[in-house]
Amino acid sequence: MRYDESSPPPPESASSISPDRPWYARRSTLVVAAAAIAPACLAGWVLTEVLGGGANDDSRPPRIVMPLSASAKLPSAAPTPAADPAASPAPGTAPGATPGGTAPAGANALAGRTVVIDPGHNTGNFKHTTEINRQVDIGTNRKECDTTGTTTNSGYMEAEFSMDVSRRLRTVLEAKGLKVVLTHEAGKDRPFGPCIDERARIGNEAAADAVVSVHADGVSAGSRGFHVILPAKVKGGGADTAKIIEPSRQLGERIAGNFARTTGSAPANYLGSGTGLVVRDDLGGLNLSTRPKVFIECGNMRDAKDAAQLSSPEWRQKAAQGIADGIVGFLGG
Ligand code: ZN
Repeated sequence: MRYDESSPPPPESASSISPDRPWYARRSTLVVAAAAIAPACLAGWVLTEVLGGGANDDSRPPRIVMPLSASAKLPSAAPTPAADPAASPAPGTAPGATPGGTAPAGANALAGRTVVIDPGHNTGNFKHTTEINRQVDIGTNRKECDTTGTTTNSGYMEAEFSMDVSRRLRTVLEAKGLKVVLTHEAGKDRPFGPCIDERARIGNEAAADAVVSVHADGVSAGSRGFHVILPAKVKGGGADTAKIIEPSRQLGERIAGNFARTTGSAPANYLGSGTGLVVRDDLGGLNLSTRPKVFIECGNMRDAKDAAQLSSPEWRQKAAQGIADGIVGFLGG
């Protein structure tokens, strides 16, 4: 779960962007950055960035594959119809706005739709290290069944955080009329896991219209902010993400924009070029998904300021609302 502190900074680091500036105020800077890399994007280049340290669902180095076109698209902050307009920029002004989903707009677009929420890790995983270290097939590779996740310095577990946000998210989405499936209920239904391949399978078998895996990161202090992880294009064994690349990107952009708006958090300052979006090809939960799916790392549990937010029930409600607004917008509701 932890990126190695000795890792080189991302080559397209957005460290020049002040973390104190409002998220919306950054757009002009980001647009300039995006324009600067556009030629490389057109050439179809792909930058592969490998950071030392752990990953979300195993202990190997996270492999971040960032098609440069990803950086050229900014997260949409356009509010959904359900969003609070007073807290949002004027509709239609978001340069990165993208249409969400293919369904017609309105409440009817949500009827009969299913969302699968995957609370990252499990509070019981640390008691079942043998079971969660078992290798499972993720199509392109083999990885550990699951991991324990990280904690804040005061011991608040990522698995507790992810479950709490997931339950809040379920409540918001069900109030919208959506069918919601959680991949697990931690200690209530199972002592550990599920394994990452099963997490993906639950979304697939539910024929989910959107799947979101909820996490928080565990990197060095000073690294702050959220990021949404999008599936890379992979093919191998049971993994073939070609059909979910674009809808997952739309889902991720919607969530990133709305999450920033409801929480006031900035996109991560340590990866993703300040876009709040990262593409990875090493996560079994994404590689094995056949449904539009993203991960969200809501903040850095090892940074005191982020940890204070992540530990706040009020902030977690805002986080859940932002994710929910992103999902609803993606579904056209
Ligand atoms: Zn995690």
